[in-house]
Amino acid sequence: MPASDPAMLGRAPDPIGEVLFENRKIEAAVDRLAREIEHQVGDRELILVAVLDGALIFAADLLRRLPGRTRLATVRASSYRGARTAPEDLEIHIPDVDLTGQHVLLVDDIVDTGRTLQQLQAALLTHRPASLQTCVLLDKPSRREVAVTVDWVGFTVPDRFVIGYGLDWDGWFRDLPYIAALDLPA
Ligand code: 5GP
Ligand code: MG
Repeated sequence: MPASDPAMLGRAPDPIGEVLFENRKIEAAVDRLAREIEHQVGDRELILVAVLDGALIFAADLLRRLPGRTRLATVRASSYRGARTAPEDLEIHIPDVDLTGQHVLLVDDIVDTGRTLQQLQAALLTHRPASLQTCVLLDKPSRREVAVTVDWVGFTVPDRFVIGYGLDWDGWFRDLPYIAALDLPA
């Protein structure tokens, strides 16, 4: 269809760039993470705390690979991401589930500056869980601004904005089965 076709007018081309991780590689990584977590957790009960919205797909897949004695809770962390991302811009809603004395696994899509996870960990620790460990699918270490402990990582990624498998661009592309770099036209 030529770009001048009336049906194409007003529709930007998809900004889906280089595919970094195909779905089968993601599946293999989630399998590995589940095995490693299960190995460490043993038969203890676990509460998986998923960070919405980005970790939705990853957490759903991970949850189904973990042993049966795992419960699900969610937190929402939304930060204003303009020119500046300051800690005070983060809004955290802690789940109603009682975390006191429980083994908690915090699950997020990506650790970037580290500020989101740092604040979520601090907020969860005020509930005095028996243990708190963190699992992320993606780690962008080149962007780290604060030291944060992450116990399990799926993949390390370069300093590129990524989309797919739960990660969005302006709310879009969470449904892609793979992870790609965002490629906006110049
Ligand atoms: P941090 O607080 O570590 O800087 O940011 C973590 C949050 O920023 C992630 O949970 C995610 O929502 C968002 N984020 C950071 N890097 C990316 C990226 O490359 N792609 C997308 N879609 N979100 C990102
Ligand atoms: Mg997030």
